[in-house]
Amino acid sequence: MTLTAYGDNAQEAVEAGIAEIQRLDDLLSTGKETSEVAQINANGGGVLSEDTDYLVKRALDIYQSTNGAFDISIYPVMQLWGFTTGNFAVPSESDLSAKLALVDAGKITLSEENGQTSISLPEGMEIDLGGIAKGYTSGRVMEVMKSYGIKSAVINLGGKAHVLGNKTDGSQWKVVIQDPEDENGYLGGVNVTDKAIITSGGYERYFEQDGKTYHHIIDPTTGYPAEKGLISVTIVSEDGTLADGLSTSLFIMGKDKAIEFWKKHSDEFDTILMTDDDKLYVTAGISDAFTAEDDYEVEIVNK
Ligand code: ADP
Ligand code: MG
Repeated sequence: MTLTAYGDNAQEAVEAGIAEIQRLDDLLSTGKETSEVAQINANGGGVLSEDTDYLVKRALDIYQSTNGAFDISIYPVMQLWGFTTGNFAVPSESDLSAKLALVDAGKITLSEENGQTSISLPEGMEIDLGGIAKGYTSGRVMEVMKSYGIKSAVINLGGKAHVLGNKTDGSQWKVVIQDPEDENGYLGGVNVTDKAIITSGGYERYFEQDGKTYHHIIDPTTGYPAEKGLISVTIVSEDGTLADGLSTSLFIMGKDKAIEFWKKHSDEFDTILMTDDDKLYVTAGISDAFTAEDDYEVEIVNK
């Protein structure tokens, strides 16, 4: 994680930004027994704090708009594959179907009382905001920056970047996107102002068994890592939460459905898709701002 701010109060702003990241991590991390999310999972529900309330509702909106590709109730399946502990193993079909039966964010109930929201999960269901939390966090950190009067800042939370304003010389930030096939290389860069640039890919977290690789982005229809021909998906949006949720979702959809989805929501985000034949698909709203590295062929996607 790196956090950089420029101008008066930059030091204080960065410290407050780090405190905000810590606060949200303590609240949202499934791995921390004391976190709000872990408590909800342990108790089958509970009263939501302001951040969790917002995030669960956004996650359920994205569940709806992506036809269930994004599903925060995937957690029991993540656990079964060992992604939560590092004890990786390909599960048996019977174990997998038992866990998959618990997955359906449509069965999460929210109720409002005295301005507070309570969540209730069906028996055995557990939730995981890992597909959306970093983008929300980066957006919150940008708000903290602004509250300190900062006009130029950048945060990088491991593949998830968010920029505030422009560089101090007035030119746009250029955010480079990692090349999944070359640890030290980039597939391209994009010039941006006030945007989250969030990438998901199977190359980020995976294990190998019997010569096959298995990664951490799970298709809720199968319980298996999504294999739809995409290597990496970058979302560019003002809305960090949306960008994070959609980077995970579009990866699961695959290229054709992802493009179809963009055509319906092109006012909310742009995307750079890398397919397994090493092609880049860049949507019209950022095609001028994007430069590919030499080896990549680019196709511009229009509405
Ligand atoms: P990163 O782990 O780098 O933040 P992503 O934003 O793509 O990458 O999120 C992957 C994480 O999202 C997984 O580690 C898991 O916690 C969660 N996840 C996996 N599959 C799904 C899914 N179908 N819907 C929602 N969240 C998912
Ligand atoms: Mg994501």
